[in-house]
Parts: sequence; C-alpha cells; structure tokens
Amino acid sequence: MKKLALHWRILLGMVLGVIVGILMTNVDGGREFIQDWIKPFGKIFINSLKLIAIPLILAALITGVADLKDISKLSKMGGRTITIYIITTVVAVSIGLILVNIVNPGKSITETTRTEMVKNYGENTTKYKKEAENQKESGPLQALVDLVPQNIFLSATSNRNMLQVIFFAVFFGVGLILIPEEKGKVVKDFFSGFNDVILKMVDLIMLAAPYGVFALLAALVVESPSLDLFKALGWYAITVVFGLLVMIVFYNILIFIFTKKKPKFFMNGISPAQLLAFSTSSSAATLPVTMERVTEHLGVEEEVASFVLPIGATINMDGTSLYQAVAAVFIAQAFGMDLTFGTQLGIIATATMASIGSAAVPGAGMVMLVGVLGYAGIPEAGLALIFAVDRPLDMCRTVVNVTGDAAVSMLVAKSVGKLGEPNVKNWDDNYKESN
Ligand code: ASP
Repeated sequence: MKKLALHWRILLGMVLGVIVGILMTNVDGGREFIQDWIKPFGKIFINSLKLIAIPLILAALITGVADLKDISKLSKMGGRTITIYIITTVVAVSIGLILVNIVNPGKSITETTRTEMVKNYGENTTKYKKEAENQKESGPLQALVDLVPQNIFLSATSNRNMLQVIFFAVFFGVGLILIPEEKGKVVKDFFSGFNDVILKMVDLIMLAAPYGVFALLAALVVESPSLDLFKALGWYAITVVFGLLVMIVFYNILIFIFTKKKPKFFMNGISPAQLLAFSTSSSAATLPVTMERVTEHLGVEEEVASFVLPIGATINMDGTSLYQAVAAVFIAQAFGMDLTFGTQLGIIATATMASIGSAAVPGAGMVMLVGVLGYAGIPEAGLALIFAVDRPLDMCRTVVNVTGDAAVSMLVAKSVGKLGEPNVKNWDDNYKESN
C-alpha cells in the first residue's frame, strides 16, 4: 500500500488526537484515561526528540564549521546570519505592533472580565514572574557571561544551555580549522559520521511522529480550560495568529525574491517541521527535524544549515517577539493605559532582546514577556489575562519561530553560494531506506 506523505500522516494524527480528546472529555473517566495511558506516549516522543538536540548541535556545528575551512568564511556567514535574524525579528515585532494598534483587542475586555481573570489565573502566573525575577537580578552583561560555559559537560546536561553548547562547538570547530589538516582529519571524520548517525535517528523517530502528535494533542485537549475564555480573548488571539500568518507570507516573499524558489516548494519542504513545532511548542525539540528538512528537502548545504539552524532555534524567535509585542499592548489596553509612540518603539527593542533571550521550550515567551511589561510600565498582573490562551498561541508562534529559522537558512545559503537542489525527493524515499 502506498503510504501517505509524512505531513499528511502527522496532520491526521493531530486531527484524530483533537477528536479523541474532545470525545474523552465527555466520557466518565475519559480524561484520566488519556492522562494515564495516552499522554505518556506524547512525552516519550518529545523526550526522544530532545534527547538528540544537544548531540546534534555538537556534531553538526563542529562538522559545519570545520567544513568552512577558513575563518573568514565563518565570520562572513556568522555576520549575515545574525544580521538577517535581527532584521526578521524587528519586522515581526513591528507587524505585531501595527496590528494590535489597528485591532485594539484590549479595549473590548470589560473591567469585570479583567478582575475575574486576574483573580482566577493570578496564581498560575507566579511561576513565570519568579523565573523572570531570577533573570532580572543579574547585570546587563550577564547574557554574555552566560554564553561561555565553565564546563562543557555540565552545559551539555541541559537543553536550556544550548547557546553554551553552540559556543563550545563553534570554538572547537575553529580550533579544528587551525590545526594541520592531516591531524584534524580523524576528528572531523568522527564528528561527520556521528552527525549522520544522529540524522538517521531523527528519521527513525519521525516514524513515530503521527502517533506522538496524536498523544500530545489528545492530552492537550483534555487538559485545556473552558472555551468561554477563548471567546473573551478572541480578538487578542486572532490578532496574534493573523500577525503570525503575515510573517509566513513575508518569509515566502523573501525566499521568492532572493532564491526564486516558489512558496509551494518551501512550504512543502518545511511542513513536517512546522506540524511538529505546533504539536510540541518547542523549537529545540523540533530542531533535529528542521535540520533534516532544510538540508534534504530545501537544498541548503549541511555546513550552512548546521551553523544557522541551531543558532536560530535559540536566538531567532520571530513568532515569540510578535506575540510579546501584541500581548504587551493588549494588556496595556485592557488596563486602560495609553502607550506613547516612544514606549512602543522601546517595545520593539525590548521584545527583540526578549525573544533572543527566550529559551526554545514551551512557555518561554511568557517568562520573557515579564521583562517587556516591566520596561513599558505595564502591570505584570496582566499576565493572568493572557494565560488561558497562551498554550495554543505558543503552538502557533513556535511554528513561525521554526519557519523563520528555515527561511533564513535558505537566504544565508543563497548568499554564500551554498543553496543547491534537494537530495531526497520526498520523505517516503527516506523511509524506504530505513525500513
Ligand atoms: N515555545 C517557543 C519556542 O520554543 C518559545 C515561546 O515563545 O514560548 O520557540
């Protein structure tokens, strides 16, 4: 029997997950059944993806940097990567601000709804505020200090330390370029083989993706709060989602202008990663698949993808920055505050920084939002207003975060002459190999 393409199978898994979740919510004991017997499989699936994130970054980046063979190429690519990442983030925040000022979603929140939500959800947000507090206590250069680990093995024990692992891998790659080729060969070959093994593991994990997302979404549905809240926050959610869609269109236009590749090509190539980003809410967990799709289906050469994507997964979060801008202004509006043009410009800067600082895990965008609110003098209690719909929006913004990374990898690849043709026609060919 001819198998459906991977993205259709994942989509089917998602839809079935939602349907089963809804059905089970209405059955006695259904909720508990999903939590006890289905949810763990979703967790196992995410864990297996996260499991390979750090080894993948290490192997891919070391090989990628070493393949560049000279430091000037590295700095050229690094400069372009960071510049394009910052530009796309600023565009994202600006789109968010323009939309939220047009739609004014916060103005429709009545005082009663506001007080009720602050009362109901206030406690849930303490965790986010505490986390943000811990981050705030450090000085202005703390982010730079945090970049350089004291012990690479310690850093490699947590997916939150990805930037430190990236730092080590790039540094190691530079060292590898600088030693005589014959001495470095064995090390390079080792990491290159290691990288191939990891990518094969991604293929294998992806076989389970439709079941994994089924479990994740079924669990999400039975655990989600009542639909009434969605209504109250409808305009806010629509503003964020619409902005995110605009971003996707923006990437496609950029890709078409600079690489002449059609939207269908890009969207088809990246869709399994997008669906996974949606189901897991984590750019870090999605990274192995993004890497696979970009190199094998979008034609980005490995040395570019392995440099641009891990960095993007940690610092380039266009979806998150757009959401932070909309959320900040929404909360201000709901509290009856008028933000000046100057403050809104400041939000562009703080949301850009905050998205760079957000970890690539579920809910991280909300922690960093505390900083944006603090800057603009917006009450932190407002977090309670957006809490109820944060998870679905997190899923959507993660899709944009991942799409943005993939798009930028194509642009950087094109600019350094490393954008070729895809080398796997479709994912199923890949399966046949692994089956
Ligand atoms: N979940 C997002 C990501 O992993 C970050 C966030 O906005 O919370 O990309």
